[in-house]
Amino acid sequence: MEKSMEQSMGESKIDSITNGHTPDWSPDSWREKPIKQCPEYPDQDALAKSLAELKRLPPIVHPREIVLLKQLLADVAQGKAFLLQGGDCAELFDYCEQNAIESKIKLLLQMSLVLIWGADKRVVRIGRMAGQYAKPRSSPMETIDGRQVPSFRGDILNGFHPDERELDPNRLVRAYHHSAATLNYIRAAISSGIADLHRPMDWGLGHVRDPALKAKYQEAVDFLTDMLRFMHTIGADKSDKLGTVDLFTSHEGLLLEYEQCMTRLLDDPTSALPHTKKDYYDTSAHFLWIGDRTRQLDHAHVEFFRGIANPLGVKIGPSTPTSDLLPLLRTLNPSREPGKVTLITRYGAGKVAELLPAHIRAVEDSEYARTVVWQCDPMHGNTRSVSGGIKTRRFSDIFSELEQTLRIHKEQGSYLGGVHLELTGDAVTECLGGSEGLDEDDLSTNYTSFCDPRLNEKQALELAFLIAGHYRR
Ligand code: PEP
Ligand code: MN
Repeated sequence: MEKSMEQSMGESKIDSITNGHTPDWSPDSWREKPIKQCPEYPDQDALAKSLAELKRLPPIVHPREIVLLKQLLADVAQGKAFLLQGGDCAELFDYCEQNAIESKIKLLLQMSLVLIWGADKRVVRIGRMAGQYAKPRSSPMETIDGRQVPSFRGDILNGFHPDERELDPNRLVRAYHHSAATLNYIRAAISSGIADLHRPMDWGLGHVRDPALKAKYQEAVDFLTDMLRFMHTIGADKSDKLGTVDLFTSHEGLLLEYEQCMTRLLDDPTSALPHTKKDYYDTSAHFLWIGDRTRQLDHAHVEFFRGIANPLGVKIGPSTPTSDLLPLLRTLNPSREPGKVTLITRYGAGKVAELLPAHIRAVEDSEYARTVVWQCDPMHGNTRSVSGGIKTRRFSDIFSELEQTLRIHKEQGSYLGGVHLELTGDAVTECLGGSEGLDEDDLSTNYTSFCDPRLNEKQALELAFLIAGHYRR
């Protein structure tokens, strides 16, 4: 049983101990800064009630887990491990359901096995799960059936149905409960053997039409199957390391009202003496990232996240001035902790070659060399609309950005430590291409995303095989 250190510590005693937190910062200092994408709730009383309820509820994740992830990410920054992060663009409360959760865990696990085989490195897994409920929008209003309605901003703010677009503060509390229930089932499924590695896995290669490609993937699957059988025979799969598979959670830290309520001053689990050092942990998830639209240096999101101890991501794209990178790192990670900041790059296949090298040089030629995790998000720079205004992404663009990113890091002497993907375990038809050869006419077959188009299970696994293939060349 883990000791519950926090509960035994009254707020009044906190002043007398060392707080490891940031000077001139408090959980609400972001309120003094300009802010983008900020909701204006019509009912302030209902908002205050929801915020008070959130503050009362227990943390969703524990500082010990947050600190463990930061240590694993330090290994990634130093080239010793690889980071796989993936999940829906926008999680809906409806996805808090056994099959949807299980299929995502299984997919991330299978992808990570392929990556371990390919890169010959440990893989750190993070789901865009259990809290990915807030979405930045480019326009506050949209037209549906000739009617102007507020845009859907994610289940934590309003509903997708056009009649539910008013901001509803009760959704903050519902988001907490859906996050907690999702993570509860992730933990239960993993500790009960969903990742049981000796059970034959369904690798579903039936759709791969190209015989040469199929033979290549089959080779990897045969190798993994043999290896897992062998480990089962000698009992190696019973060791702690394989028996429990870690899956950390993450979401975009967009809605600061929510993140502030989930941020608690708690014991630093790494300090030798209990109750001597405290830090602010955002206990809504293990990993939070700042989106492309909210990473302005002097704005509220950077202000809020500079004060919390969690590992953080920052989306970096064509609109990021190279001169912003070091000020961002100095603000978010002044003590240069390795693994603290992940730079999630998302330029698009047509722009990455022109823009990434200067971004790498700015960081790797500074005092931050080898402290950041470079992660490629090959999804968000490659979104396009096809006829009828349907949003999609081409598998070939996604892979092209990833392949160019791998090559550029090699040329620059830096390490591409991970990938950040929008994916689902369901057989959706949202992205074009891949071995199934999905084309524009197929998009309507099973397009269920309420936000950006996701890779389906087959496309996601195929991407893992392609990345593995890059390492094994
Ligand atoms: C996202 O990750 O869903 C997203 C909105 O990305 P970005 O901030 O990079 O546009
Ligand atoms: Mn998205």
